[in-house]
Amino acid sequence: MKWVMCAVLAGLLGCSSESPKGSTESRAGKVRVVTTTTMVTDLVRQVGGDKVDVQGLMGAGVDPHLYKALASDITKLQNADVIFYNGLLLEGKMQDVFAKMARTKKHVYPITEAIPQDQLLEPPEFSGHYDPHVWFDVPLWAKCVDMVVKGLSEFAPHDKDFFEQQGKAAQAKMQTLHDWAVKRANELPKEKRILITSHDAFNYFGRAYGFQVVGLQGISTVEEANMASMVKMVEFIKKNNVKAVFVESSVPQQAIRRISEDAGVIIGGELFSDAMGTPGQMENGYDLGTYEGMIKHNLNKIVDALK
Ligand SMILES: [Zn+2]
Repeated sequence: MKWVMCAVLAGLLGCSSESPKGSTESRAGKVRVVTTTTMVTDLVRQVGGDKVDVQGLMGAGVDPHLYKALASDITKLQNADVIFYNGLLLEGKMQDVFAKMARTKKHVYPITEAIPQDQLLEPPEFSGHYDPHVWFDVPLWAKCVDMVVKGLSEFAPHDKDFFEQQGKAAQAKMQTLHDWAVKRANELPKEKRILITSHDAFNYFGRAYGFQVVGLQGISTVEEANMASMVKMVEFIKKNNVKAVFVESSVPQQAIRRISEDAGVIIGGELFSDAMGTPGQMENGYDLGTYEGMIKHNLNKIVDALK
């Protein structure tokens, strides 16, 4: 009853968005964090460790370009202590929600803001906007750790040292992953490093690991591939002797399958683009539901198929 009164009053007065004490107190004093994509969720879990309770809104196979917040998501966001999202318009249909949350809540962070602008790509297909798929350049994604450390420390300053330590450990792990990725990519001669997929999620990957990346669909998945671009793609594959093309886990696969038939090349495998795999699903000793597993899976598939 007391809670109801409080909620009604808060609604009427439009005052504090903080939930009444006691009703939504976090489990065992943990910071309640809500995130968007699986990559952001993974990063926050690494930095926050057992001091955070992280709820990701988007699961495996979910396309963040098209994702619209459900009523239940809004409730989760309203009850969160801290919100982290990718930013750079990746979550294109949730911008209003974030803007609204930022007005009523202090702790809302687009983690890609940690990346200096001169390191972002601005492809012509996405005129006026930066390419949001930064997680495929591992050192660039490692920079986003800083924003997570900052966000968690601003909400829970007494645990700042812990978050900083965890952040450094996560960045060190990512450096090891990056070194591995460079070595794996170098197994392919330069002229064989051509990556063809359905949407332009791999521009940062290409820059970091020396691949020419050709996407069929443009930077967002909102626009569908048209006939002309499919014909052009088939010509490109034949001219450059490309051995394989790739489908993606969070994007429809018909167009790329059609191209593989028309050009007479194999599907080299399914890559994770805008979402990681299912947690606990193991492959060659790595978990596909982790950032590390996602990067390793993609590189192994690409290098093995193009070799
Ligand atoms: Zn995308």
